[in-house]
Amino acid sequence: MTNKGPYYLTTAIAYTSGKPHIGNSYEIVLADSVARYKRADGYDVHFQTGSDEHGQKIETRAIEEGMSPKEFVDMTAGTIKHLWDMMNTSYDRFIRTTDADHEREVQKIFKRFYEQGDIYKGAYEGMYCTECEAFYTSSQLKDGKCPECGGEVHPAKEEAYFFRMSKYADRLIRYINEHPEFIQPVSRKNEMMNNFLLPGLQDLCVSRTSFKWGIPVDFDDRHVVYVWLDALSNYITGIGYDTDGSSDLYK
Ligand SMILES: [Zn+2]
Repeated sequence: MTNKGPYYLTTAIAYTSGKPHIGNSYEIVLADSVARYKRADGYDVHFQTGSDEHGQKIETRAIEEGMSPKEFVDMTAGTIKHLWDMMNTSYDRFIRTTDADHEREVQKIFKRFYEQGDIYKGAYEGMYCTECEAFYTSSQLKDGKCPECGGEVHPAKEEAYFFRMSKYADRLIRYINEHPEFIQPVSRKNEMMNNFLLPGLQDLCVSRTSFKWGIPVDFDDRHVVYVWLDALSNYITGIGYDTDGSSDLYK
């Protein structure tokens, strides 16, 4: 059979704040069936799945369980991987965002963004809910209270790094218009365009100082990298992306 070329397939990575739910299992089984079909059809398949292991919610859950965050995610990621194995899913790599190669690369990606001016230091200002440990804009509040828990909010300011997402809006809009197959189904493409890109992208806060359980920014270690840059990078770090020269698998 002729080799039809490389085919890369991933699932979302499961968040390790608790036990996996039926939705996680549904996703891995669907992805596994696609991977098996593509292999049988002659593609050189690389199938990746894994777990998303940083953030305040995990730090809090670990404290509640009387464990360190690392002990806690070792337990929950272990449960997830055990289930995937029990269902005989044929993944090639189970990446954990606490894996050393991933953490090192996320630090390098963050630094590269900073050096090329895509990340800058600023301050996050807004209405803060202590209960949810989250910032909201005034327009997001419900009757002056937290839209999530209904609790009191107060004005607060926190030093943070921001990703210049606004800079990329025009080229994303152009790319998606020129490649209508890029986001499928079309209802999701429309959602992305109408709800996010066309109204205008805001710069995104990509660091936190209010908790510790994350990948430290290597040139400013009071900050940890926010989950957007950490977890989402797994799809490239897991196959050997490197700012200094990527692996053959990535290429
Ligand atoms: Zn709240």
